Amino acid sequence: MTNYSIIIPSYTIGPDAYREIPRRCSLYGEKAVVIGGEKAMAAAREKLLAAVKDSRIEITGFFLYGTEATFEAAAALEAESTVREADMIFAVGGGKAVDTAKLAAIHLEKPFFTFPTIVSNCAAASSVAIAYHPDGSFREFVHYLETARHVFIDTDILARAPYEYLWAGIGDTVAKYFEVSLSARGEELEHYLALGVTMSRMCMDPLVRYGEKAIEDNRAGKASYELEQCALAVIITTGWVSMLVSRRHNMLYNGGAAHALFYSLCSLPGFDRTHIHGVVVGFGVLLQLLIDQDEEGFEKMRDFNRRIGLPVSFSEIGVTLEELDQVIPQMIADEDVQHFPYRLTREMIMNAARRLA
Ligand SMILES: [Zn+2]
Repeated sequence: MTNYSIIIPSYTIGPDAYREIPRRCSLYGEKAVVIGGEKAMAAAREKLLAAVKDSRIEITGFFLYGTEATFEAAAALEAESTVREADMIFAVGGGKAVDTAKLAAIHLEKPFFTFPTIVSNCAAASSVAIAYHPDGSFREFVHYLETARHVFIDTDILARAPYEYLWAGIGDTVAKYFEVSLSARGEELEHYLALGVTMSRMCMDPLVRYGEKAIEDNRAGKASYELEQCALAVIITTGWVSMLVSRRHNMLYNGGAAHALFYSLCSLPGFDRTHIHGVVVGFGVLLQLLIDQDEEGFEKMRDFNRRIGLPVSFSEIGVTLEELDQVIPQMIADEDVQHFPYRLTREMIMNAARRLA
């Protein structure tokens, strides 16, 4: 037996979530720098300043992260004396801004706090950063032992962000439940894995229940209860599940056929530039359910996809069955499906796909 630790970030959510900053951050010092994306910073700046006014926390600088989450962008931030002299880093924005700030904070060994401004992914609450090359192509997953000390989720800011982020984020998040639970099927799991797999259910239920209303409210700029529940599923639950099921860099349970479909289709010319990850993954859930011969689950999720406007057929994502057939070797070899309860075959995939043509 060896020792190990589990680290999961805490969170505050609500229209005045930033008001909690002094209480949550003072323990770590006084000087904070904000790193973020341009739009995110514009949306959050005044609220951040108002929240620390009359407190011990002083915001000593605002820095734009750049345009891609790269080691180069992180290094440029690390070279700023204001950043080096800060006691803590506030990471504000979507996945790339937050991940760049994480790269810099962890390299500088500074505590960091996250302030997601869109409902899109779990970057704010997970210990993984996705690093890109400066040209925007994928470089590597960077796994850390550290997470944000606290996640501050301002629902008014989320409600004013473009709803397309939420829409695609829902597709990616529901997949988490179907992929994690299928990857772990029939296994006896130790504490943290069992927690993660059980918790993954909460990546699906609130979104199926509240997703349609949340999208409607996001379009109307309304910070409703439904939007809040969906934000928690996309940002917090998915982050916690990822951390629990991929502890010790063990990614065995963290993927499935929906992601394998997306990554294999990316080998078709131009596919990744013209398709949104979460939208294709949300469609991939239907393929995985048919492969798994779960008719009831398939009917339920097809109905859900229709209700919120996610695709229900290959033609809707502009892919022919011939093109799918071409990428099947990549799909079967994808690391996301290496820990499945059974081996994927071409026949299984094509039989399922014919019902989604
Ligand atoms: Zn994904």
